[in-house]
Amino acid sequence: MESYQAERERMVKYQIEARGIKDKRVIKAMQSVPRHLFLPKESWSYAYGDSPVRIGRGQTISQPYIVALMTELLEVQEAHRVLDVGTGSGYQAAILGELAAEVHTIERHPELAETARQHLIDLGYQNIHVHVGDGTLGYPPAAFYDRIIAAASAPRVPDPLLQQLAEGGRLVLPVGSRFSQHLEVWTRQGEKFKKSNSIPVVFVPLIGEAGWDGDDPD
Ligand code: SAM
Repeated sequence: MESYQAERERMVKYQIEARGIKDKRVIKAMQSVPRHLFLPKESWSYAYGDSPVRIGRGQTISQPYIVALMTELLEVQEAHRVLDVGTGSGYQAAILGELAAEVHTIERHPELAETARQHLIDLGYQNIHVHVGDGTLGYPPAAFYDRIIAAASAPRVPDPLLQQLAEGGRLVLPVGSRFSQHLEVWTRQGEKFKKSNSIPVVFVPLIGEAGWDGDDPD
């Protein structure tokens, strides 16, 4: 089977390091996780391109640079328990699985969750748990989380996600209108939550009780 190692090295050098990502653990994870294996075979040749790729149900696997940036902003450490909202293909969860002790990832579309679960099992990840449900409500059975990341955009930060952050925890997610957002980084100190903004981004909507109403775009 093709390994796409050379494509992965080029992706990291020209899309990720060249744009200022410095965290060595993030870079190593992006060099080693076989991104193409999270896509249907007919899309493998697009896997290492500088853009999102469609994965079905109107959803995408995020652009490699955005995965790297959000993961760097998250500052994941080895002992951490992480919640990943919007499993999609499972690729972001795999990157987190390389960096953290335990990852819970939640997806609202059962078919996407099942495909992601299968890919993660095939690759041997035992520290990643895939759940189906409304991730705007977090995943209370495994709370609290040292880190929370959402790869779909909300009109405002969902309160259940803030409430499920552990002391000293950190949350990264896109917030804004349906068509343009900023990455927000939230941190928790006791009952105080602080926010800072990163770059402008465009994500699919986070649809659920504490997110947007409605259905997915096609
Ligand atoms: N991180 C993913 C990856 O690596 O492939 C990409 C995520 S994709 C940009 C956003 C995902 O969020 C979609 O799969 C979508 O179905 C999911 N989503 C949207 N609203 C959600 C919700 N309330 N709970 C869980 N997943 C949700």
